[in-house]
Amino acid sequence: MRSHYCGAINESNVDQEVTLCGWVHRRRDHGGVIFLDLRDRDGLAQIVVDPDTPESFSAAERVRSEYVVKITGRVRRRPAGTENKDLATGMIEVLCKQLEILNAAATPPFPLDEYVDVGEDIRLKYRFMDLRRPEMLNKLRFRSKVTSYIRNFLDGQGFMDVETPILTRATPEGARDYLVPSRTHPGNFFALPQSPQLFKQMLMVSGVDRYYQIAKCFRDEDLRADRQPEFTQVDVECSFIDENTLTTLMEQMIREMFHDLLNVDLPVFPRLTYAEGMRLYGSDKPDLRIPLQMVDVADLVSGVDFKVFSGPANDAKGRVVALRLPKGAELSRKQIDDYTKFVGIYGAKGLAYIKVNDLTQGAEGLQSPIVKFLGDDIAMQIMARVEAENGDIVFFGADKAKIVNEAIGALRIKLGEDLKLYTCKWAPLWVVDFPMFEEDGQGGLTAIHHPFTSPSCTPEELEAAPEKALSRAYDMVLNGTELGGGSIRIHDGAMQKTVFRILGIEDEEAQTKFGFLLDALKFGCPPHGGLAFGLDRLVMLLTGSRSIREVIAFPKTQSATCMLTQAPGEVDAKQLKELSIRVRQPEAEAKK
Ligand code: ASP
Repeated sequence: MRSHYCGAINESNVDQEVTLCGWVHRRRDHGGVIFLDLRDRDGLAQIVVDPDTPESFSAAERVRSEYVVKITGRVRRRPAGTENKDLATGMIEVLCKQLEILNAAATPPFPLDEYVDVGEDIRLKYRFMDLRRPEMLNKLRFRSKVTSYIRNFLDGQGFMDVETPILTRATPEGARDYLVPSRTHPGNFFALPQSPQLFKQMLMVSGVDRYYQIAKCFRDEDLRADRQPEFTQVDVECSFIDENTLTTLMEQMIREMFHDLLNVDLPVFPRLTYAEGMRLYGSDKPDLRIPLQMVDVADLVSGVDFKVFSGPANDAKGRVVALRLPKGAELSRKQIDDYTKFVGIYGAKGLAYIKVNDLTQGAEGLQSPIVKFLGDDIAMQIMARVEAENGDIVFFGADKAKIVNEAIGALRIKLGEDLKLYTCKWAPLWVVDFPMFEEDGQGGLTAIHHPFTSPSCTPEELEAAPEKALSRAYDMVLNGTELGGGSIRIHDGAMQKTVFRILGIEDEEAQTKFGFLLDALKFGCPPHGGLAFGLDRLVMLLTGSRSIREVIAFPKTQSATCMLTQAPGEVDAKQLKELSIRVRQPEAEAKK
């Protein structure tokens, strides 16, 4: 229907006849002449309709915002003084010869020609309108560029795109499964994949050698912060490879992508062990744009009377750290109170601090409610260890290590954001040497990555001290966000069974749930490994968006519903019957 996209015409088209199709972004009636800004996915063009074309003029009088029209006209230079330098097509306009209304539009639920802060629920309910906004369309377009880029890169490296099933058995990635009832096997359920993990491992057994897939994954989690029940992974697996080769290749892909799509040259990714990440930043995905680091001081305070410090200092699971904020002595009482409340969210019972006014006066030069409890000598030793300077503030965290890591780790990020402490725009890294397991809070262990991750020790060593074992897992982190993660896998049946046992999955259960994997490991499984990137997060970072919902065409809300289609919804009794399902009504339950 069209000859050009609206945003694509420019001075080189002057005097040409063009046909444009799109939405009426704005209509201005200047008595005598009507101006229409016509919009399509490429941009805006100004259309001038004058009364010399009476039919078109009367149509232009009828159009309203978001009407769909087709216009044919001649491109001409805008009269001197009326150009718009901010617009790609701002030097020209189209003198309309013919205007055809292709469809009318009801009054939009929110205006598209100006920025109005309508709630996200309305935007999601009318997502098809929201996506008409250029910034949203540009995000979709960018996402498409990213996926093409990844496909091209991986195709070029010999990776094969293979689809894996959506209706399958549970793949443990640490979340709840979405279940789909089977009609043909009453009482039985499929699980939607939390990731294609086991299928990609099977493909390695099959000899595919290099696999990738841009795969939908489903996890029924309590939706903290910025998660979606279904999300997209760039899923990769390789045979006959070690962690160095794989991470180098994946780093190359991300670096080249940043260079080609954003014109950003990322530095070579440093490697940080999990233990160092926890020690210095309290996190396994540290934001290295922020220069602040934690310093352990438990050994210095283990003998003081101040129980708040000496308690955790003498507890094997406790931790006492200092976090020095250069020039932080300027913080007001109110700011410190706010930070104290902030760390409270993470379970910290308070936020002790020392302001460093004048070190030449020794402890006299320190201003703090806690120096008198620590004693001058210890206070000064702490100052020396954190290399404090006049004008700094030193914050403290003292509690169970988990609470200290989370609270002071979060404080570090908050200070970085609030006080603009960033030393660079992009800080990528690899985090390596993760532990295999962590405590599950019920006396057992759970896999930190997933149960198919290879430990870096022998099965005997693993069995002897599972809580000490390290894994061959790696995470790619950018600006404090985990972009992706993976591991070298177990390719030996005995090792896999050992890991299952440590996780409390006895042989019989392992056979029922993962018999196919254990079988595959018996029939010549090559050494292999891989990783998966979170595509939504990657695009979010690349486009500077605040939430992954901004880069997903039709996302769900925080409570896992789709505002647009009103899913999940009820189903007919007939359908349930076919599935041999009877629904217990929560209300009826309550009345019993
Ligand atoms: N399946 C893993 C995940 O979803 C990624 C991997 O190990 O390749 O996190």
